[in-house]
Amino acid sequence: MENHLQTKDWGLGLNGHVIIAGPCSAETPEQIEKVCLDMKNENMVPHIFRAGIWKPRTRPGSFEGIGEDGLKWMEIVRNHLNIPITTEVGNAAHVELALKHKVDVLWIGARTTVNPFAVQEIADALKGVDIPVMVKNPMNPDLQLWLGALERLQAVGINKLAAIHRGFSDSYDKRFRNKPNWSMPIHLKREWKGMEVINDPSHIVGNRAGILETAQRAINFGLDGLMIETHHDPDNAWSDAKQQVTPAGLKQILSQIDFKQTGGVENPGERLNDLRTAIDHLDDQLLDILQERFSLIDQIGAYKKEQNLTVFQSDRWKFVMESRTEKGVKKNLSEKFMKELLYCIHEESVKRQEKQLREADPVKK
Ligand code: PEP
Ligand code: MN
Repeated sequence: MENHLQTKDWGLGLNGHVIIAGPCSAETPEQIEKVCLDMKNENMVPHIFRAGIWKPRTRPGSFEGIGEDGLKWMEIVRNHLNIPITTEVGNAAHVELALKHKVDVLWIGARTTVNPFAVQEIADALKGVDIPVMVKNPMNPDLQLWLGALERLQAVGINKLAAIHRGFSDSYDKRFRNKPNWSMPIHLKREWKGMEVINDPSHIVGNRAGILETAQRAINFGLDGLMIETHHDPDNAWSDAKQQVTPAGLKQILSQIDFKQTGGVENPGERLNDLRTAIDHLDDQLLDILQERFSLIDQIGAYKKEQNLTVFQSDRWKFVMESRTEKGVKKNLSEKFMKELLYCIHEESVKRQEKQLREADPVKK
């Protein structure tokens, strides 16, 4: 999949890493004005201003968003900062109101991305409209749902697309509000060439203190921008108080981030080229070794068939797993990586041998 317009081609003057900031929720006109003035005074004007108007809260009873009135206050942002505005839409009625009030960029929230009916409803409401849409990852780490939501938008003609990585719900991992699962955004970028992913450290970390570290990691991994919740008085925010930062706090965070160059593939330095060539050779060797290993697996499969043995032999598996993991760890490979690698190789081996058994034994009915 490819063929969509990247943020730099959205006609909004975006360039390089995109910084989106603003409060979790629009609360009052005074609040919007104060955030804007503090941003201006701190000389910390983001590329895009965010504010939630309709808030999908996990439990009822908490602040569920100010609704259409909040959209009227977006004029204040335009007057003070003159930057594009983005808000979350969760259904066709939201889309209609956001368009009526000339919101520049829409985003689909994590609780909506999980639901193809809702995403399709939003896509249908956007048919024939030229507006950029960003899609947050679904609550659960399901790449297909994330891709699917982007595809539904593309199918109705929305070609200004980006993704937002806001982490995945995991009630066991207390380190994060939403576990980052970095392989997901990277996988999305592999699957959809040129798809930019903006990291939302606020919702991943869930508290102010961890934002810098997560944002830096996102940039290190090659993600394309940051969405950081920013409020003039975070402690008294009506939603997500713990994770919001002040404009001054945002400025400090951004000044500490080492923004790497994205891309880089078109014009890598000589040293990078040499290292990549060496990697290419090693990968060739790795493939040769795997080919040889699987040919041995096939020979063992034939023997098991002859001797009427089952494919899976638990003692042997235990030995392979333990001995290789121990050796790998001594070579500075992590235990988790060794286990995943061995599971992957073993699963393929077992499948090949079982297939051999079936194919070699076609007459038994
Ligand atoms: C938000 O950005 O305020 C929000 C509700 O995000 P998410 O959909 O990621 O929970
Ligand atoms: Mn929020």
